[in-house]
Amino acid sequence: MTAWWTLPVGELRERARVVVVGAGAGGAFVAATLAEAGLDVVVVEEGHSSDKKPRNIPEATSRHYAEGSFRTSMGSNPPMPVVGGRGLGGSTLVNSALCFRTPESTLDEWRELAPGIVPDDDEWYAVQDQVEAVLSVAQTPDHLLSGNDRVQKDAAGRLGWSEFNARRNAPGCGGCGRCHLVCPTRGKASVDLTMLPRAAAAGARIYAGCLVRHVGPGRVEGELVDEYGHPTGTFSVDADHVVLSAGTISTPRILHDSGVVDPDGEVGRGLCLQPVHSILALIPDTQVYKRGATQGHVVDEFVDDRMIFETNPTLSAMFANLPFHGTQLAELLAQSHRIANTGGLIRDTSRGRVLGSINGVARIAYDLNDTDMARIQRVFRRGAELWLEGAGAEWVAFTIHGQPPARTMDEVIAHTPDDLARQRLLSYASHPQATCSVGRVTDHTGTLLELPGVSCIDASALPNNVGRNPQISVMTMARLLSSRLAEELGGTVQPLVPA
Ligand SMILES: Cc1cc2nc3c(=O)[nH]c(=O)nc-3n(C[C@H](O)[C@H](O)[C@H](O)COP(=O)(O)OP(=O)(O)OC[C@H]3O[C@@H](n4cnc5c(N)ncnc54)[C@H](O)[C@@H]3O)c2cc1C
Ligand code: SF4
Repeated sequence: MTAWWTLPVGELRERARVVVVGAGAGGAFVAATLAEAGLDVVVVEEGHSSDKKPRNIPEATSRHYAEGSFRTSMGSNPPMPVVGGRGLGGSTLVNSALCFRTPESTLDEWRELAPGIVPDDDEWYAVQDQVEAVLSVAQTPDHLLSGNDRVQKDAAGRLGWSEFNARRNAPGCGGCGRCHLVCPTRGKASVDLTMLPRAAAAGARIYAGCLVRHVGPGRVEGELVDEYGHPTGTFSVDADHVVLSAGTISTPRILHDSGVVDPDGEVGRGLCLQPVHSILALIPDTQVYKRGATQGHVVDEFVDDRMIFETNPTLSAMFANLPFHGTQLAELLAQSHRIANTGGLIRDTSRGRVLGSINGVARIAYDLNDTDMARIQRVFRRGAELWLEGAGAEWVAFTIHGQPPARTMDEVIAHTPDDLARQRLLSYASHPQATCSVGRVTDHTGTLLELPGVSCIDASALPNNVGRNPQISVMTMARLLSSRLAEELGGTVQPLVPA
């Protein structure tokens, strides 16, 4: 099979009508939409192809995670990992394939924040239906649930809580549970298997290993890099229009690093992270370890309180933060087949900011506010209830540094006090959103209000956070904005799903 992408060596000089920076969820939809509309498109992506599958976590993180997976926010809470993908496919290469439709209530908010830009429900969901069709989204069948999914499903069922098998874009999923290491069997419909080859078939020239350092009207330039990010040459692309689809963190970072005019300081503001906190439990069921789809089950009983629970992969590193030592820790690890884990994701109200970079490292400022701290306390308590009362757990443990396990709800309440120090939280985020929002930073085509000729179309374009895993909303927004851009540049937009 001829590759649909190219890895340039030494030097690359290109010219196109539109250059798209980043080949992730947003960039793939932008590139395919513009190319199919008849425009001459070049895509430049910092990461490489995932054809050579990573064999283990270090290989996956060093090749296919932004900043080698060390990207973190800084604030008065401890550094929070802000994980992102890197490569042809972007974060869709390493995500869990969970798919959520944009909630109607979120869309209502977005229309208030970006009037005239976010369309009515009919138009939005018509596009979203097509996005989901392209990605083959379907509900996870029972036989693909992992042991962890099953115990969460049963526990929620016993409590009478609202729950469902996750919808995922993984039509060929065999249930190996390794989505975060790149699907070994191409079972997940990541955009490198869907929209990027489509863009190439329509004439887009897609280059891997191109790290953009500088952007301005009519030109992007940077370094050619190997799969670990070491420089091997230089490149530049001259184009009439530049689309930044480098993700919520890198898109504003590149603009800041390039000294793009930003008189009101809006670029990079509004950062939402949707932090996740884990609740682990030792339960009687001995089948928790059984493999299945990565994160195949969701509890949405408390969605009105801006939180959902998704089964969470348990990494042995999580135990390092619990107060188990020596033989106690060895005994715990020996029981890992009985350890269940759920992740409570909140729709945060805290807002952070992305600044420029120092030595290639993004500067991300983010502090959890009091409202979110109170919600995280409720996440721990509800998660504990799920396991203690729904699954008969012997104990539950939280991602709170140094906190001993709790065996009863009274202990849970004592261990999650109102004055829980932010500094003790072990938070995680992989859904950064909204740093170059439409309406605030860009117009109806995603083009910068202060710099015509440069657009931002990716998760940074969302008006605020979705409140669910966002990939489907990001793709929907990318399709809408890039369709409008294509028309303004003289293209003729083609249907996403042929009639
Ligand atoms: C581990 C993980 C699990 C997730 N799980 C889910 C899930 O199950 N469901 C869900 O809905 N969402 C999930 N998400 C989030 C979802 O994947 C993202 O919201 C979505 O992919 C964002 O799209 P994007 O286009 O903004 O950025 P990305 O998809 O991250 O793409 C950005 C691309 O730009 C490239 N880039 C960055 N800087 C430069 C530069 N200077 N030069 C050239 N290229 C550059 C990056 O390498 C990357 O390939 C997950 C994310 C992660 C990281
Ligand atoms: S669970 Fe395994 S087989 Fe299924 S999509 Fe993820 S990596 Fe692929």
